[in-house]
Amino acid sequence: MSASYERGINAFMEVIDAPVASFFSSCVHCGLCAESCLFYTETGDPQYAPIHKLEPLRRTWQQEYTLLGRLAKLAGLAKPVTDEELAAWSPLVYDSCSMCGRCSMVCPVGNDITMMIRKMREGMAAAGHAPEGLVTATARSITSGSPAGVKWVTVQAQIKRMQAQFGIEIPVNKEGADYLVLMSSWEILNYPEYLGAVGRIFAKAGATWTLADDAYEATNSGIQIGASDLARQLVGRIVAAAERLKVKCVISPECGHAYTAIRWEGPNLMGRAFGFEVKHILEVLDDLRRAGRLKLKGSIDKPLTYHDPCQISRRGGVHEQPRTLLNQIAPQFREMNDGGTMNWCCGGGGGVSANERAEALRTIAFKRKKAQIEELGVDTVVTACANCRVVIEEALEHYHMDIEMLGLTELVAEHLDEEGI
Ligand code: SF4
Ligand code: SF4
Repeated sequence: MSASYERGINAFMEVIDAPVASFFSSCVHCGLCAESCLFYTETGDPQYAPIHKLEPLRRTWQQEYTLLGRLAKLAGLAKPVTDEELAAWSPLVYDSCSMCGRCSMVCPVGNDITMMIRKMREGMAAAGHAPEGLVTATARSITSGSPAGVKWVTVQAQIKRMQAQFGIEIPVNKEGADYLVLMSSWEILNYPEYLGAVGRIFAKAGATWTLADDAYEATNSGIQIGASDLARQLVGRIVAAAERLKVKCVISPECGHAYTAIRWEGPNLMGRAFGFEVKHILEVLDDLRRAGRLKLKGSIDKPLTYHDPCQISRRGGVHEQPRTLLNQIAPQFREMNDGGTMNWCCGGGGGVSANERAEALRTIAFKRKKAQIEELGVDTVVTACANCRVVIEEALEHYHMDIEMLGLTELVAEHLDEEGI
């Protein structure tokens, strides 16, 4: 029995708490969760049924924490979970789950399957069965602060570019600012216009803000891989910077899992409440709009739709704000079928996009999003998550679809009413 296998099973036993036990014991095997999961609907393969992805964790619960299970194990009638099974389940837990939360919404007995997959990843990572791409990204996050290895010097280069392009000031380490702005690696590398957009909007709204040179990265690979100690370390960097700079609010960028990590898991990981608020950028924009500090003008003269990022809309509750903002500037806004809290995932969340092993499956899973876009007849898709944007752009390329992807914050900045306020 290897040490890593033992660590994995011990981690399983640690994460099995009362909610997990009650979820496993209340499953009525209805199969509704399968129909809600795009990895099942787009492949028809029963191994992708969400509850099946948890089978090693369920057997550990049964054999370690139920009387009948323990007796069966003692009598040699129940086969303990083996290291080979854990290895075989790795693609089910990491490649075919974006932790989108859709299955948890439909379960008739209220099982939070997504939370259980998050917990199961703790054991899989401890057992050494996390995929290579996620292991590398997590290691880079710890050593350089960013899963893509983005260093502060790269951020500085983008700051200079955006300041020159838009004639704005981008403050760094400014104590007492209202907002501490975070970015994801994708925004720094692929979409620096996000930073320019935030600068233009805040300058117009008269909001004070800052970046921190030791906490600019919002992505939390620790959450994605299932390593709470590393996730805590990454959240801790942001908390330390927010407290040092005495900001009132930390803004999670257009990145879904970053929002979950810092807003929902953050205080639990740190074991205390934060002395500052955490909001998604769309919440802040809508706050400014309601306060009369964000006025928009002009309209986009073409049909477009909005892709709801799972962690922001379904799991984060931010689904009204993007619609309110879009309705002000996009008269031809069209809602996707299943749009809003039941929207379908892009297929690349939860670390799937950082996992090369999952690439072919992710492309198949995208067929659901493809159908949603095609039936609307639009050629522009707006979203508020840089990871969704990259995943969708790659898949559109693969399927030869001529669709433009836009970030909502940039769109808002382009429609600022310069005369207003
Ligand atoms: S969280 Fe989403 S991707 Fe994962 S099993 Fe549930 S429905 Fe499927
Ligand atoms: S939807 Fe809920 S009750 Fe039905 S099979 Fe899935 S986990 Fe079990």
